[in-house]
Amino acid sequence: MTREKDDKLAAINVGRPSITVRHAGLERVGNGRFKSLCPSCGKGVLPVRRDPATLELLAEDSCLLCSQRFSYSDLGGPSSKGHAPPRRS
Ligand SMILES: [Zn+2]
Repeated sequence: MTREKDDKLAAINVGRPSITVRHAGLERVGNGRFKSLCPSCGKGVLPVRRDPATLELLAEDSCLLCSQRFSYSDLGGPSSKGHAPPRRS
């Protein structure tokens, strides 16, 4: 039964600590401006999440394919919950 393969891939990174990466350094995929290629599995997509209230890009993300979690060093930040400093240029 080779159908289990997908499940294993999806579960392989569950529970692992997140990897800190720079969102700006990732490869964009699709026609979205923020979707990135997962540097862990090389196939999955990191969709990037937004805070539903502030629409601020969140630092925490995870791959849709391998479930590896990522933390963007150049998005969101530790202050993403609470007072987010306005940081645009
Ligand atoms: Zn992945």
